[in-house]
Amino acid sequence: MSVVDEFHGARDYRDDTEAFFSDLEKGEKISVVLAPSFFGLYGDRAEGIIGCLKSLGVEKIYDGGYGREISAYLTAKFIKESAALPAKERKFISNSCPALITVIQKYHPFLLEKLIPVQPASVSTAIYAHKYLGDTNKIAYLSACIASKDEVDSENTGGNLNYNITFSRVMKRLEQYNFEDYKEKGSLDLTANGFGSLLARGGEFADLITYFFPRTENIIPLKGFSEQNMNSLYLFFDDEYSEVHPIISEVTACPSGCISGPGFNSKEFDVKTVYSNINKIKSRVFELKNLI
Ligand code: SF4
Repeated sequence: MSVVDEFHGARDYRDDTEAFFSDLEKGEKISVVLAPSFFGLYGDRAEGIIGCLKSLGVEKIYDGGYGREISAYLTAKFIKESAALPAKERKFISNSCPALITVIQKYHPFLLEKLIPVQPASVSTAIYAHKYLGDTNKIAYLSACIASKDEVDSENTGGNLNYNITFSRVMKRLEQYNFEDYKEKGSLDLTANGFGSLLARGGEFADLITYFFPRTENIIPLKGFSEQNMNSLYLFFDDEYSEVHPIISEVTACPSGCISGPGFNSKEFDVKTVYSNINKIKSRVFELKNLI
């Protein structure tokens, strides 16, 4: 079985939803970071779901778009600060997709030195909560991503996240609740109103990086870990390609982006509603920034 099959063809997968609910019941203090895709997928239901989680004992709930913006800013800063280096010495691979990191660690360790050394969005949000909001709770990451389990377990993310929980499994556990009854409790403890909240079907983190650079810069977003995609990352060790060296290459596992990650039940994906939610988020972000 290939790694891609492991992530996407598997009928079952490993996450921490059971441990999360069981620890909550035992009185463990837990906070939750919501992936930005939560707001695209659940739209008007988001508030009720947040309220329901809080009524079950979750102490704090943070919009992960906040850390996504921090991660994008730090990534852009890193790229700008290393721009003067010879192309061959530049790091350019985004670590935004944990499935890619696992593939690199297992099959392409030579590429490790090319990873941009900035924590991904989920971890950046948790670091912010720990460091600046004084949160001492365990923190769960709720998303459609099952590969984030590797991020939670990785020694490189500093133990900032403790559970990887997924939309499908969490919603299954909450199916007996009427979310409308919990809306009043549904306020976030950290909101994100910047471009870290922007969603796209496909083209994820690299899209955000484009905001920091002229359109003429080479930004390469690729989908899937095909031999061709992975081999393309090796080209830039070679001087021959220095003139077309990308400032960032992003290779993501899910063909339609994080909004359709395998930890979301695709049968529940309502295109009209999700696209409308994505557009509402986009309008809100750009109106706030006075960009429209
Ligand atoms: S593309 Fe898929 S595997 Fe990668 S971060 Fe998004 S949901 Fe996770």
